[in-house]
Amino acid sequence: MIASPIVGRFAPSPTGPLHFGSLVAAVGSYCLARRAGGRWLLRLDDLDQPRVVPGAADEILHTLEALGFAWDGPVVWQSGRGEAYGAALERLRQQGQLYDCACSRREILASAPHPGEEGPVYPGTCRQGLPAGRAPRAVRIRVPDREILFADGVFGRQAQNLAQEVGDFVLRRADGMYAYQLAVVVDDAASGVNQVVRGADLLGSTPRQIFLLESLGLPVPAYLHLPLVLNADGSKLSKRHGDDDSPLAWSGGGLLCKALRWLGQPVPAELEQAPPAEVLAWGAEAFKAGDIPAATEIAVDSVGKSR
Ligand SMILES: [Zn+2]
Repeated sequence: MIASPIVGRFAPSPTGPLHFGSLVAAVGSYCLARRAGGRWLLRLDDLDQPRVVPGAADEILHTLEALGFAWDGPVVWQSGRGEAYGAALERLRQQGQLYDCACSRREILASAPHPGEEGPVYPGTCRQGLPAGRAPRAVRIRVPDREILFADGVFGRQAQNLAQEVGDFVLRRADGMYAYQLAVVVDDAASGVNQVVRGADLLGSTPRQIFLLESLGLPVPAYLHLPLVLNADGSKLSKRHGDDDSPLAWSGGGLLCKALRWLGQPVPAELEQAPPAEVLAWGAEAFKAGDIPAATEIAVDSVGKSR
């Protein structure tokens, strides 16, 4: 048997139990990788240690197992990958792309730059060297003043000018923590991931990640961004959302059917009573990327019934 070239992954953050929004990303990434006969990897994005909830990682792994997910290879933990992130940072520094920044968040806000993709666009204060008497805090990368283009598998053609919409961004924070943007590209490349399926909240981060991959001489994966699950009131689903969406409140098969329907897939009604592995097997056969709704956000109450 010839191995499929597709390598997908699911990378939850252990900041709480698996909620329905994360489950949608798990189901989408799993079905797209398996449908292509590819591998599906699991990584725990626990880089932001202060936000990690003790026990959450174990609970996520347990929930995934109970729902019939089987991943390939060992689970990767970002908290154990600091050396790789440091090496990537060093390479970018040797290429002359980095500089130290002394600015505090308050100073950046006070310099009144226009709002960007994530907070204010950094005005470049330290680009030509630290102001006299100031100590370095963060490490930033110089971004190009040109459009970064990519074709998203759900949202189509995307373009972003990093200089105008983001500014030179931080790769290592003042507290010494590596930025998520750096960690994610280093990890995906090290694992050979070439199909990134995740929530649309990261659509706007993708050009930064492509720029980093290109700067590090790493291959750029295919991207498919899935609509975010919102609460019925339009707020972002960040925790387990009431009893209705708790993995424990649904039968495993029913919950997976709900996630598949949410991704526009016509799951047969009889599968709702089926064991989870059977529902995932259906998804691995029948999942169609073209059926995923190209909406950045969908309220959780508008789906899951008979859609
Ligand atoms: Zn600065």
